[in-house]
This record gives sequence, C-alpha cells and structure tokens, in this order.
Amino acid sequence: MATTNQAIAAIRGMHDILPEQTPGWQQIEHIIREVLSSYGYQEIRLPIVEKTELFKRSIGEVTDIVEKEMYTFDDRNGDSLTLRPEGTAGCLRACLEHGLLQQNQVHRLWYTGAMFRHERPQKGRYRQFYQLGVETYGMATPDIDAEIIALSYRLWQRLKIADKVTLQLNSLGTVAERAVYREKLVDYLQIHRDQLDEDSVRRLDTNPLRILDSKNPTMQTLIENAPALMDYLGADSREHFATLTAYLDTLGIAYQFNPRLVRGLDYYGKTVFEWVTTELGSQGTVCAGGRYDGLIAQLGGKENYAIGFALGMERLLALVELSDALAVERSVDVYLIRVGEQAQKQGFVFAEQLRDALPKIKLQVNCGGGSFKSQFKKADKSGAAFALILGDDEVARGEVAVKNLRVEQEQQSLAYSDAIAFLQNTL
Ligand code: ATP
Ligand code: MG
Repeated sequence: MATTNQAIAAIRGMHDILPEQTPGWQQIEHIIREVLSSYGYQEIRLPIVEKTELFKRSIGEVTDIVEKEMYTFDDRNGDSLTLRPEGTAGCLRACLEHGLLQQNQVHRLWYTGAMFRHERPQKGRYRQFYQLGVETYGMATPDIDAEIIALSYRLWQRLKIADKVTLQLNSLGTVAERAVYREKLVDYLQIHRDQLDEDSVRRLDTNPLRILDSKNPTMQTLIENAPALMDYLGADSREHFATLTAYLDTLGIAYQFNPRLVRGLDYYGKTVFEWVTTELGSQGTVCAGGRYDGLIAQLGGKENYAIGFALGMERLLALVELSDALAVERSVDVYLIRVGEQAQKQGFVFAEQLRDALPKIKLQVNCGGGSFKSQFKKADKSGAAFALILGDDEVARGEVAVKNLRVEQEQQSLAYSDAIAFLQNTL
C-alpha cells in the first residue's frame, strides 16, 4: 500500500473542541452540575456502545434514528453493536441490569456525553454531539414532571438565557388513546394524501403521528387543521396534564400548549415537552423530554414510571454565547517570568510555594526561555491578570516583582511571603 504524508482530517460532522472553546463548555458544565445537585440528582456513567437491539426495541423501528441515523457495526464476534444515538435506552438498561428499579425504588439521575447520529451536518446538527440527559424512575404523579421542568428552567436562569427559550407542552396520552387517535388522523390525512410529501406518505402506514412533526412548510396548514390528540385523551391523562400545568402556573413557569408536539421517539406517553428558541435558525430545540413509563416493561422490567429530558449541549452553548451575559473565567491568573540561571531554579520553587498557599490559583510558569521582553509578551497573551517577574537580581534580594497586566499600576518588588499575601488578597 502506498503511503503518503497527507494530513488526515476529522470525520465530517464530528468536531474537535479546541482549548479556546473549552472554558465555555466547562463553565456551563459546572453550572449544570450545581443545579442538578441542588435538586438531589445523581450522576450515572454509561457505555458509549450498546447492543443494536436495545435501540431498535426502545426508540422504535420506524423512527428517523433507527431507520437512518445509527452508527451500527459488527463486533469481531459478529454481534451487532451501535454507537449510542441517545442516552435514555442505555440508562434504563443499566438500571434494570443492576436492579435499581426493584421494590419501588425512586431515582433521579443524570449523565452527559457524546451521542452519534448519521445526519446531514449543519449548524446545530452534528454526527457526534453532546447531550445532558436527566432521567427519573419510580414516580407516577405529575409532580416529578413539574420538577424536571422547574430544574431545566432554573438552568436557563443560571445561564442567563431564560428570555430566549419557550416551553412547549403536550400530552400524548396512553397507548390505547393514541391508537384511537391514530385512526382518526390517518383518515384525515388519507383525504388530503395529495398534499403529503414523500416521507409523510411513507409514514402514513408506519408512524403517522410523526407527520405532525414535519417541518415541511407546504404541509403546515394541513397539519394545523388535523384532529388534535388532546381531544382523544381519557380522564386520567387529562387530569395528569391539568395537574402538571397547575404546578407550572404555581411556579410561574410559562408554557405554550402545542397539540402538534409528538416527539420523534416511540417510547413517550402522557407528558412531552420541548424548550425551543427562535435564535438558532432551524435547529431550534434546545431541550426535549417526556414521560416514558411504557419503556420499562418494553425492556424487560416490571411496570414502572419514568420521565426525563435530553439537552443538546452545542445548541445550549450557542445560545449562551449569543446572550453573552456570562462572564467567562480567566484560564490563567498569574504568569511567572524567569530570566537568568538562579531565577530559573528559584522560579520553580516559588511557583510550588504559591500553589501550596493558593491551591485555586491558575499559575503559568514561563518555560522555553526568552528575554524579559519576549516573556512579557507571552504573559500578556496568556490573559493573566498579573505577571510575577524573577531575574537574578530579585533572587539575590529574596524578592519578586509584581506587575498588573490589565490595569495601569506601578510595578512593585515584594518579599516572597508578601507577594503571596498580595495575590491572596487581590485575586
Ligand atoms: P431534532 O428535531 O432537532 O432532530 P431530535 O428530536 O432528534 O431533535 P432528541 O432525540 O430529542 O432530538 O435529542 C434531544 C436534544 O439533543 C435535541 O433537542 C437537540 O438539542 C440535541 N440534538 C439532537 N440531535 C442532534 C444533533 N445531530 N446534533 C446536535 N444536537 C442534537
Ligand atoms: Mg433528530
């Protein structure tokens, strides 16, 4: 085989997150963790690869994901495996496998990580993307539905994007209620078959509710005039929905009732919701979720209750950046310049003393040599607030010079202990 030295690029739709971008990610991840733990949610960590069967059985054979978006391959022993396209199925698989859902246990869980879908890459839509998933188990009543919505709302507030997202809410009722509705919907759509696009004609037999989810502009009037699922719900589903909306009213969380909101996955029932924005073009859903009680038995568990949501991290980040209201933390506080043989050594010793005294300090020591001038340039570029300067003269006096890199101030020479105290009080 011929070898070349041509550079190898990343896979289309799979992106590197570069050092200049990671502070934004870390900041959001930090806030997410704080909010989740303030509601008593626990982290679970799950494999990225699962048996293909798990996704087929949970997400549903006739969904976009299973029909055309999964990265599926044969393991060396011939097992069909799939890179997870979402986290709900794997999370539930893990909880069932480890007996977490036995004896009326209640769980509030979260996970974050990469998901994989073979979609057409565009802004806000990638082949490897990151989700935060929140899943709760064992609670039948709509208070938990309200809690996870309140939790997501608190997240928007903490991230200062609450004014950029709106909550859309619907109820999908039970399997039996949906079956009745499905017939009515198919009857209606059959009459207007000539207005359906190719995808929708195909879905008429396989998954007609998904037609309501179509973004095709020429079908919007047809969809708006379709029979509404809400009209076919029974008393229990209606009451569940009414109690949830009453909780949201009490909490002051505004919502829009969207009777066309059906969600792409098969496993939802009763509550479904999406947080959407108009500020990210057509990729407007930031966070989506719902109740999926039925999935537990479908994956071999006893009858039980579950509700959760998944949040697209890239879309969230894009919104946070648009609003520009979060102050991004510095990645370097202090840059230590060392010129001269003694200063090189003493600089390292002093840097370690500083880290002992101020464990949270972000201290970068100049490595790779250079004159005072070139090291100052690097100090400035690092974004540090202060430069500490050590030349052999300072070492001889047992001092270090401190210079504010951001505010015009006289440079001062301080004894080591005074410099440490100064940074402790100033940073
Ligand atoms: P969409 O309608 O945008 O395709 P979806 O219904 O397929 O979304 P879910 O499976 O509900 O999405 O996933 C939850 C969230 O994950 C979405 O609301 C979105 O923020 C994010 N997400 C889904 N697919 C992608 C992707 N390919 N790239 C980036 N983010 C995604
Ligand atoms: Mg999708």
